[in-house]
Amino acid sequence: MERHFECTACGKCCQGWLPLSLDDALAHAGRFPLFLLWTPMRPGGKSFDLTAKLGITIKLKNRKKAAVRITAISYVASHMPCPALAEDGKCVVHETKPQRCKTMPLSGSRAENDQTDLLIPSPGWDCDISSESTLLYRDKQIIARSEFEAERKQLVADAEILRPYAQLMLDSLPSLRMDLHKMALRPQGGHVIVNFSTLLARLGNVDVFAFAAQQLPIIQAFADLTRGQANHKDEHQHYTACAEDYRRTIDAKP
Ligand code: SF4
Ligand code: SF4
Repeated sequence: MERHFECTACGKCCQGWLPLSLDDALAHAGRFPLFLLWTPMRPGGKSFDLTAKLGITIKLKNRKKAAVRITAISYVASHMPCPALAEDGKCVVHETKPQRCKTMPLSGSRAENDQTDLLIPSPGWDCDISSESTLLYRDKQIIARSEFEAERKQLVADAEILRPYAQLMLDSLPSLRMDLHKMALRPQGGHVIVNFSTLLARLGNVDVFAFAAQQLPIIQAFADLTRGQANHKDEHQHYTACAEDYRRTIDAKP
């Protein structure tokens, strides 16, 4: 089966969570509300082995293992627009947009033979899937490969940083391990959200005070936007706790 796809830059998918490479996260720290998303996956899925390779595995009570993907994200509350989306639907960082946006709709974090569903636009999206558009996928093989390869390369490089970080977090935070177990066993799956600041020490020469000063107004703006909204209760709690964390960091600056 063949799938054609071309992005017309309509901006209609530019909302909610946006996975980011670590370089993209740091490059856009002045714009996106950054968090870390931990996503457990039970055995059996086509992308299980890849997720285990790029992330870590945890033992479940039933003697099986879950693979856990750890990724930086722009943690925009569901259905809220990306902070880089202008009112006319254009991306204001088009020239430097994150690799995830360039690779869309393919995903470097999924196995090559596990992309089919991603090539079906959601209702209302203006993606061009006509036979005149780019031939992207044929018989579960990616044809136009350059952006997919670029994203996969970033994911492999990031895994070198994220895997030891994740192992240390699991060893020192039993509550994190328990939360991941709970999510792995839920039939509908789930995620655990962790403050991005927990990773900063592993990212080279990042000035933690400058980073906190960049992130605080962004995170606080999302805390304000989601205040009192029942459908954004969890997100609001994460924004509020994270803003408090950055306030403490800024106050501790010598
Ligand atoms: S960075 Fe640009 S292309 Fe990517 S989701 Fe945001 S607005 Fe869309
Ligand atoms: S909805 Fe489709 S056409 Fe519109 S920006 Fe997203 S990928 Fe591109």
